[in-house]
Amino acid sequence: MDGTVAERLTSVRAAMARAAARFDSGPREAVLIAVSKGAEVEAIEAALEAGQREFGENRVQEAARKYPALKARYPDLRLHLIGPLQSNKAREAVALFDVIHTVDREKIAGALADEMRRAGKNLPVFVEVNIGGETQKAGIAPAGTAAFVKRCRDAHGLYVIGLMCIPPAGEAPGPYFAQTALLAREAGVENLSMGMSGDFATAIELGATHVRVGTAIFGERT
Ligand SMILES: *Cc1c(COP(=O)(O)O)cnc(C)c1O
Repeated sequence: MDGTVAERLTSVRAAMARAAARFDSGPREAVLIAVSKGAEVEAIEAALEAGQREFGENRVQEAARKYPALKARYPDLRLHLIGPLQSNKAREAVALFDVIHTVDREKIAGALADEMRRAGKNLPVFVEVNIGGETQKAGIAPAGTAAFVKRCRDAHGLYVIGLMCIPPAGEAPGPYFAQTALLAREAGVENLSMGMSGDFATAIELGATHVRVGTAIFGERT
C-alpha cells in the first residue's frame, strides 16, 4: 500500500463520504476508528497530526503500553476497545478505554458494570453479536441479542449504545451487516460498529455508524 498515514486517512475518509452519499436514508457521518493494533507509536502520532482522534486497539496490554502518554498529549483522543475482554482485565480496560465494543457475555457485562461503578464512570458500550453463528467467534447469538441488551441495561446498568459485528471471513458481508442493523432496531439501540478495511463502504451503505479500519490506514500488519 502506498502513501503516508495522512494520505491513507484522506482516501479512507473520501471513500466513507462517497458511501454515505449512496446511503438511502440520507447522508450521515460515520465515526472512523483508526485501528492501531500492531502499529508503532510514530504511525499513531502521524494520524493524530493529521487530525484523527478516534483509535481502536484489540488488546488491553498493547493499548496500555502505547496510549497513556498519547492521551496525556491529546486530551480529546478517544480509545475504543474492539477485541475480546477477559474479566480480570476489566479494571484496566475501564481505566484506559473510552468506548467498549465487545460486551459478549454476561460475565463481562457484570465485570464491566462493577468496575465502572468503582471508577465512577459509565462508558458507552456495544454488544457484540456473533452474526454468522460461528462456533469459534465471540458474541451473542442473534436470536438472544435483544434480551441480552435489555439485561445489560436493566440488570447491570450499562450504557448500551449499539451492536458490533464481524461477518464470517470469505463471505459477502452485506447480508450480515443488514441483519445486524435489523437486530439493532429490534433491540432499541442506535449505533452499529461494523466494517473494516475491506468492507467499510458496504457497512456504511447499510447503516454503520462506526467503522473500524486498520490496514487501509496503517498498512499491513507484520
Ligand atoms: C483488526 C481489527 C479491525 C481492523 O481490521 P483491518 O482489516 O486491518 O481494517 C477491525 N475490527 C476488529 C475487531 C479487529 O480486530
